[in-house]
Amino acid sequence: MQELIPLLKKYFGFDTFRPLQAEVIERVIGKKDSLVLMPTGGGKSICFQLPAMYMPGTALVVSPLIALMKDQVESLVANGIPAAALNSMLPENERQQVRQRCLQGEIKLLYLSPEGLLSELDWLLSRMDLSLIAIDEAHCISRWGHDFRPEYTQMAIVKERFPQVPVIALTATADKITRLDIIEQLKLEDPQLFISSFDRPNLSLSVQRGLGKKEKITAIVNFIRRHKDQSGIVYCMKRADTEDVAQILNTNNIRAAAYHAGLSPRERDKTQNDFINDRIDVVCATIAFGMGIDKSNVRFVIHYNMPGSIENYYQEIGRAGRDGLKSDTLLFYSLGDLVLLRRFAEESGQNEVNMEKLNRMQRFCETDICRRRILLNYFGEESEHDCGNCDVCQNPSQRFDGSILVQKALSAIMRTEEKIGVQMLIDILRASGRAELHQLGYDRLKTYGAGRDLPFKVWKEYIYQMLQLGYIEVDYAKQQVLKVTPLGRKVLFGETHAQLTTYREPEEIIRPVKKEREKKTPQARPIQVIAANTIEETLMDSLKQLRRQIAQQESMPAYIIFSDAALEDMVYQKPLTLDAFANVRGVGDMKLQKYGPVFVALIHHVLSADK
Ligand code: ADP
Ligand code: ZN
Repeated sequence: MQELIPLLKKYFGFDTFRPLQAEVIERVIGKKDSLVLMPTGGGKSICFQLPAMYMPGTALVVSPLIALMKDQVESLVANGIPAAALNSMLPENERQQVRQRCLQGEIKLLYLSPEGLLSELDWLLSRMDLSLIAIDEAHCISRWGHDFRPEYTQMAIVKERFPQVPVIALTATADKITRLDIIEQLKLEDPQLFISSFDRPNLSLSVQRGLGKKEKITAIVNFIRRHKDQSGIVYCMKRADTEDVAQILNTNNIRAAAYHAGLSPRERDKTQNDFINDRIDVVCATIAFGMGIDKSNVRFVIHYNMPGSIENYYQEIGRAGRDGLKSDTLLFYSLGDLVLLRRFAEESGQNEVNMEKLNRMQRFCETDICRRRILLNYFGEESEHDCGNCDVCQNPSQRFDGSILVQKALSAIMRTEEKIGVQMLIDILRASGRAELHQLGYDRLKTYGAGRDLPFKVWKEYIYQMLQLGYIEVDYAKQQVLKVTPLGRKVLFGETHAQLTTYREPEEIIRPVKKEREKKTPQARPIQVIAANTIEETLMDSLKQLRRQIAQQESMPAYIIFSDAALEDMVYQKPLTLDAFANVRGVGDMKLQKYGPVFVALIHHVLSADK
């Protein structure tokens, strides 16, 4: 394997392999089949791109989306690797050129859609010298997966036609049925299964509950302000919300746009391209957005609503921090989300499965143990320590004896004969004086005003806790009214005590990662935090500006010129010679030659101006 490291540096600018990359590459070079499961950002591409450079012939890469192909081809070409895509979007004369170059053996990696592969099979592919066949996003083959594509099911033909060419199937979706399906449908021969850890330690995790629309928006605006000029995604359940949120962000001087299936393809393409090219910072989207996005510098993902399953959640937050740098995620959820998601699940035709998935998601949101442990556990991985990079780890909850609060709430529920929901309950406890309360006679209840001392949002939080602890339950069949459970009755009648968790302001919980915590966090790489008003910050700003200029000149996304990780390494190393610049992570031969001189000159300039 040692002979591959120089190639890794030469073409990709990296000195070491990520976990499992070396093993997978060895297998491919040994002409054996494999199935590779790695989380998004795990570094799947190198697993076939490096062997493609090492082995004689051309590698075929089957990829389901034209946007993904384009992105990969651009970044390969930027690294001086002859790569091309053949797809239906290209005009025929360009396709003809690509075919010519393939026949002359000039192309090391050829990207094809599944349909493209089938249509080129008889003529072009049978005349080429193939090194390997990579099937990217291989879960699309499975009806059980969430991105099933019928075209993928005919891919078994590659093994029939080219039995001697190694096949490597790759995906970030881990579940067992899908795995077996991929192996079976591709007719992989004695495949070795590679499963890397699904942990993404660079993503911080946090959850906020029970916020109203206005509060959520305020929290989002504040959150994004802390991520100035950074790219991020806000996922919303409803189309209308994507538009609302985008508009409010814009009025707050945050460059944002909406994306959902109701927009025209042209509008969607524009938003996607603006995002990829950093012309906007934030996309407010339904889940329709993201699959075709390889953008490595997405720094945050916010869920405006709770996703329906942990798989979906993990896939969506996984779009942040592909470059391995620190990125933040924030999820909001409310009873309203739960009600809606339960209805979707019930109407889905796979009622039981989807309900169970939703329950697991809910438990993740409501946990007071390390969230990452719950996630990893869900994906079948055990973790021995708390992560230090989730809101639970950073703000361990404080308990108090909340029996009296619980009694007040439960007694109000009983006295209204279990006919009220959360809103009305809090209004009664706080004696809101709303006309409806008088009409119903609730102002004459003994508990009317019994909880005046606590603000609305605090009561809401405690009621969520009471639900979670099983003192009350929501009757979903009956307009979500609250009912007291047998356990609740025990608290109500003083037979047992209730431990609640102290309310904290949202801002306290989602404040940025504390530095001293970071040291304890087991991280794949050290996280660098660039302090404000330092030479490092100035340098980073200048490097980003230069990268943006070059990206514009070359009509290329900025992250393809250099990833954020590469810029951070430049700031860290401050290389003043080309030799030193060559050591920067992500600088291979091509980029050294092409961009080295201007970047070194800029670093020189910034550092000497500082003196
Ligand atoms: P995936 O396809 O698994 O989502 P990618 O192949 O796009 O992941 O890789 C994610 C990021 O990690 C890219 O920015 C890539 O340049 C970087 N990367 C991959 N392998 C390495 C490595 N060995 N060392 C450093 N960075 C790497
Ligand atoms: Zn944690």
